Amino acid sequence: MSTTEHHTPNETPQEVAELRQQLNQAQTQLAAYEKRIRQLEGELAEKQTQTDAVNSQQQLIIETAQSLLDIQSVEELWPVLSTAVCQVTNSDRVAAYLMAAAVPNLQIPYSSGISEPYLEFIREHYQEAPAYEARFLESVIINNIMTDPRTESLKTMMQQEGIQAYAALPLVTPDNSVIGIIITYRDEARPFTPEEITAGETLCHIGAFALRNIKLLQETKENLRRERRLSEITLTLSSVLNLPTILSSVVRMATRLIGADAGLLGLVVDEQFITYYPYNIPSHVNLRPSKNKDNIAWQIVEKRESLVLADYADYKLAKEKWVRIGIAALAGAPIIAGDKCLGALILFNFHENHRQFSDRDVALLESVGRQAGIAIQNAHLYTEVQQRANALAQMLNRQAELDELKNKFIHNVSHELRAPLGIIFGHVELLNQSLADDLQPEQRQSMEIILRRTRMLANLVEDLTALLAAQTQEFRRENILAADLIYSMLADYQIQAAEANITLQADIAPQLPLIQGDITHLRRVFDNLLSNAFKFTPAGGSVTIRMWTEGDDVIIEVTDTGSGIPADKLKYIFERFYQVEEKGQRRPGTGLGLALVKEIVEAHRGHVSVSSKVGQGTTFEIILPSVPPDESDA
Ligand code: ATP
Ligand code: MG
Repeated sequence: MSTTEHHTPNETPQEVAELRQQLNQAQTQLAAYEKRIRQLEGELAEKQTQTDAVNSQQQLIIETAQSLLDIQSVEELWPVLSTAVCQVTNSDRVAAYLMAAAVPNLQIPYSSGISEPYLEFIREHYQEAPAYEARFLESVIINNIMTDPRTESLKTMMQQEGIQAYAALPLVTPDNSVIGIIITYRDEARPFTPEEITAGETLCHIGAFALRNIKLLQETKENLRRERRLSEITLTLSSVLNLPTILSSVVRMATRLIGADAGLLGLVVDEQFITYYPYNIPSHVNLRPSKNKDNIAWQIVEKRESLVLADYADYKLAKEKWVRIGIAALAGAPIIAGDKCLGALILFNFHENHRQFSDRDVALLESVGRQAGIAIQNAHLYTEVQQRANALAQMLNRQAELDELKNKFIHNVSHELRAPLGIIFGHVELLNQSLADDLQPEQRQSMEIILRRTRMLANLVEDLTALLAAQTQEFRRENILAADLIYSMLADYQIQAAEANITLQADIAPQLPLIQGDITHLRRVFDNLLSNAFKFTPAGGSVTIRMWTEGDDVIIEVTDTGSGIPADKLKYIFERFYQVEEKGQRRPGTGLGLALVKEIVEAHRGHVSVSSKVGQGTTFEIILPSVPPDESDA
């Protein structure tokens, strides 16, 4: 039983059919709406996925950027950057290519999923690749290698590698230069969306920025390190003055400073040898000093030029022994001091480390060479000065020893001679007096000679004793009227003057003050001056004594018109035993007189000086302090 039949008693069958149709229509409509809703729901979900993708891509970019900026070494940067670029561009493989201006070859610091033969092929043909165009700042997008005419020449190779599409994104630095290219590859020919490319480019920009920062940082660090080492070198070199230590430090520090594997310093000795100071060179390598000039050290010394060898074994002067220890690269600089080249400083890199020397390394090595030159020169100078100072000190010591010895000798001799001489003298005088009348003329002459000579000897001993006394200050201090002293001396010499036909004069100022001292010693002073004056003045000449006061001083002058003393000898005449020799002949006397004069005068706090002209005469001037008036009465 149908419900419609029960519930529609008033409706006609036509109406029922209409209603049924309407119902059908509504049902169809509903289905259509439902379908649309489901469709919209689907679209919405898809949009959501896309938004999620974009969001996660942005998230990835932000995270990668952060980690890129935290990275401290270039080696670490490449994998992080390349992987992230590969990811945001939804690619399958990636490689980073570097085209440094200084390096002719293409460098590939990182690759993932690319075969070695393919990389090798790119290394050789990169300049023909369309990706190479990315060096002009624009990304190069190849969505299908089969249809894109640009890839024609590389198509076969790429097909073999299984690459279908790729995007080459330049690494652009903030100053708009391209330092490299990152290429992401797809295994299917699916086109890159603009979003993917933008994301990839963004990461490449950040990467280039991070790269430059790392390099700057490393450079700064390296500069700082080098600067520190260089100033260490300067400091060490200026503080050490011993040559072998300097040379060993120079080679060690230079090697470390430049980061080389080993070093050698060659120092030129006597302009014909080179002696070597090695650092980190195997001990079995013979480094004896050599005269042989066909080696690198000599070449650097002779040319005074630096030398850099990228491949030592290839060089014309290469030595088998050095090749055998594994030397690959070499850098050498001259050691310069002023206009002299003192040697060569040479650094080595061994094969295992594969490192070349840069221009900066060589510049640095040259500056170490110059510093070493100065240090070596200073060390030489210092050694010389030290040797001279030592020699001088030794001489002075020896002089002091000799003086001491001489004094002892004089003391002993005079002491030993004095007593017997006194006895001889006494007895001779006695004999002379008692026998005088009985002697034959020849005997008398002999007697006189004995007397004279004995007196001379006694005088000599007296002089010596007095000299010692003057030195050891054994003096009496009494007030003396200097005028009286001089007058009495004039009287003593009057007869001698007459005999020698020499005029003896005096010019003595009145009322002279007292002087203080030992009259015996002072008498000896004028005795010596007068006896010299007579000895060196020929007949017909004159000897004059003058005396006056000047301020608190009493001045006494003894002038003669004798032979005079050559100017260049004047400074010696007060030395003990010195005599001006004439044609190699010593004169009578011992040369002690003036030494004694000087000692005695100075012991009296006075001063003696001389002026002379050869052939005209000599003047000795003595200055003695006078006794102050209030002490004069004492
Ligand atoms: P000594 O005095 O011991 O007997 P000496 O007279 O030779 O010996 P000094 O009195 O010390 O020794 O004099 C040193 C030298 O100085 C003399 O030998 C002489 O050459 C020179 N000399 C000194 N006085 C005069 C003088 N008045 N005129 C020229 N030469 C002089
Ligand atoms: Mg004399």
